This record gives sequence, structure tokens and C-alpha cells, in this order.
Amino acid sequence: MRQRRAPEKHPILIRRGDTVKIMAGRDKGKSGRVLSVDPVKRRVTVEHANIIKKHTKPNPSKNIRGGILDKEGPIHLSNVMIVCPSCGKHARIGATILSDGTKARSCRRCHAALEG
Ligand SMILES: [Zn+2]
Repeated sequence: MRQRRAPEKHPILIRRGDTVKIMAGRDKGKSGRVLSVDPVKRRVTVEHANIIKKHTKPNPSKNIRGGILDKEGPIHLSNVMIVCPSCGKHARIGATILSDGTKARSCRRCHAALEG
């Protein structure tokens, strides 16, 4: 198996549970909650967005019936933006180091801190 390297460059500022707006692709303009974040592929899955047909094989031991399933597909991080809970707009998010050394995410539009 190929070795997994930690992603370089920009840190991933999206967390599970955040609300994001989709900026590109089939579901452009939609917003939803982040279900999962894949730091290796730098992709997120967003609730009710980018629905794909997933073909699954039946696996009786895991009680999986098999067939075609609707499932959220991954969207690249560059195609989504966090919706700021304080100003309600999609915004760029920055990381700020607080005086006590902890990192906080903040909205670049209204400068409010995001929890998490
Ligand atoms: Zn804001």
C-alpha cells in the first residue's frame, strides 16, 4: 500500500459539523453540514450534496443488501466554503493563534471566532 503522507501547505480548516456552501460543481449554491473530512485526499462529504449512485455488493455477514444506493460523494475542499455562523455568509476562514497559544478559526469577513 502507498504510504500516506501528511498533507502539506494549507491546514484544513473545515471540521465535521461545519456548515459549508458548495461553490462549484453540480450542487453549486447548495449548503449543508459536513459529514466527514478526508485530510489525505483533501475532500469533504456534505449532507445531501453531490449525491452519487453507489453500487454495493451484498454482504450478508454485515447485513448489507447490495444494489444501488444513494450516497453523498466527496467534494474537493477548494469547491466548498465555510458558512460563518455569526455573519451567515460564506467566508474565508483563517487560523489565528490566541495569546495563550491555542489556535482558533476565525471568519475573515466579520472576524468572529468559530468554535472548534
Ligand atoms: Zn463571519
